[in-house]
This record gives sequence, C-alpha cells and structure tokens, in this order.
Amino acid sequence: MIANMKHYFKSFALLELFKGLKVTGTHLFSKKVTIQYPEEKTPISPRFRGHHALRRYPNGEERCIACKLCEAVCPALAITIDLEERDDGTRRTTQYDIDMFKCIYCGFCEEACPVDAIVETKIFEYHFEERGENIMTKEKLLAFGDKHEVMIAKDKAADAPYR
Ligand code: SF4
Ligand code: SF4
Repeated sequence: MIANMKHYFKSFALLELFKGLKVTGTHLFSKKVTIQYPEEKTPISPRFRGHHALRRYPNGEERCIACKLCEAVCPALAITIDLEERDDGTRRTTQYDIDMFKCIYCGFCEEACPVDAIVETKIFEYHFEERGENIMTKEKLLAFGDKHEVMIAKDKAADAPYR
C-alpha cells in the first residue's frame, strides 16, 4: 500500500522527469567531448598500427633484407615474400605482398623486423575501390614509405625511449 502511494506520488510529481532534466542540464553547460570527425581529429599515438609501409635508408637502399621473419610471425598469413641473392651476396625481396583484407593489424611484423623495414604508420584513412587493390605490393609499400618517411621517423624516435 505504502509502496503504491510512493509510486503514485513520484509519478504525479514528475520526479523522474526532473532527474533526467538535471542530467541534461549538467551536460548542456559542461565541456564537450564529441569530436566532429573528419574535420576534427583526436591525437594518435606514435605506436598506432595503421597502413603498412616499407622503409629505405637515407641513401635510398631498401632496408628489407628478406629475412622473412615478418612472414613467419604473421598470424593471419597476410605476408608473401619471395627473394633473390644479389651479386654482392646480399638478399633482397623480389616480391613483398601484404593482403590488407587478411591483416589483423597486430603489429607482429613490425616487432619482428630486425631493421625497421616494415612499419605500421598511423594512417588509417584509406580505402579500396577495385578488386585486387587490397594486395599491397612491394612497390606500393615502398612508395608509401617514401611519402611518409618524415612522419615514420618522427614516430619511431618518439617511441624509442619506451622500448
Ligand atoms: S600487422 Fe599482423 S596480421 Fe598484419 S601483416 Fe603484420 S603480422 Fe600480419
Ligand atoms: S620486412 Fe623486416 S622482417 Fe620482413 S623480410 Fe624484410 S627485413 Fe625481414
């Protein structure tokens, strides 16, 4: 009986409604946390694992020595490497493909690479329009690395003290 009266009193006094309005009012004047993407963007960690890139040394030589560690460690079997030995005895890849549809962006390839050749950049805004574009070839990965080398080097330097 008392519980029922309480219930009716609450209903008639619109207590729940005022409670809700109090929450709305509090948030109306508090600092906004909503980000208007894509015009506004949140900060991104230098460790962010986005689009892959293959890097070169400052003299233009490819860093990758075709050791295949990244291919071996990849849990999604997304990396395919073929290689050849040069006249000077060094090894270089003739094929380095990453299937971006298979990749789970775990970062294992980057961690396994002994020469910082394969990296995951903080670029995450990309798309594919044609069938087959999901295969990132060596040429595409190197071109991507060349284009973003300054940013990649900066992110690596920022992360170095924590490794
Ligand atoms: S990020 Fe992970 S899944 Fe993607 S290619 Fe590298 S090792 Fe494979
Ligand atoms: S990217 Fe790194 S781990 Fe992969 S084959 Fe080249 S040197 Fe080895």
